[in-house]
Amino acid sequence: MSEMTRFCVSCGREGVQLVGSLCPSCYVERTELIKFPDEVEVRRCRFCGSSWFDRKWVKLPEQEVLAATISQTSLIDHNISSLKIEASQIRFDPKEGKVVEVTASGHVHGAGFRLNRSVRLTERNVTCDSCLKKRGKKYEVVVQLRGKEGKLDEGVKRLFEESLDKEALDNLCDVVSLREGVDYYFISKSVGKRVVSRFSQVTRVWVTESHEGERVRDGRRESKLILAVRA
Ligand SMILES: [Zn+2]
Ligand SMILES: [Zn+2]
Repeated sequence: MSEMTRFCVSCGREGVQLVGSLCPSCYVERTELIKFPDEVEVRRCRFCGSSWFDRKWVKLPEQEVLAATISQTSLIDHNISSLKIEASQIRFDPKEGKVVEVTASGHVHGAGFRLNRSVRLTERNVTCDSCLKKRGKKYEVVVQLRGKEGKLDEGVKRLFEESLDKEALDNLCDVVSLREGVDYYFISKSVGKRVVSRFSQVTRVWVTESHEGERVRDGRRESKLILAVRA
């Protein structure tokens, strides 16, 4: 009962603050400080890349969303202070499938720790609320991305999608994957044209322009612009 008898049952150190029956440095080594989830699931919008987090759609880098989700679903020892949980990388594990590498660091009464874990990752492609609303809108232009020899190269597709800026992404109302390529539907003609001209600066493309469903309404000529882009 006296203060004198208080020592760490593991290393015998005396005169230190004890956490339970251990000194802080033994405690961080011998205790499961954080119980990580076995699996984490993220729902990402296939159109704008938003993630579902904390019951709303957020536009944050995937790693941030993962780290926050893992923090929320982990059991964290209440003795920990200045905890930092990070999702450092996503990789493919032959046994587990997609996994996210998680690093957690912090202190327990001055004793620092650092933990590394792999958490299984499930990514669900969904459509967020605002993209769902946009999809109901009328489109003016379809950009048909095609390959040169009938098959669209994955690298070209990625290059095209990376060339889309915020305005283009906000304007994109549908993406349809076909065997011969991908069709991108834009609400506004000017945005669709700008997307194609921007992409033509990044790589060599052949563009053919055509119109579909031409008709006159209220004295104005209306039609859908089809921009076929071969790259
Ligand atoms: Zn100790
Ligand atoms: Zn979206």
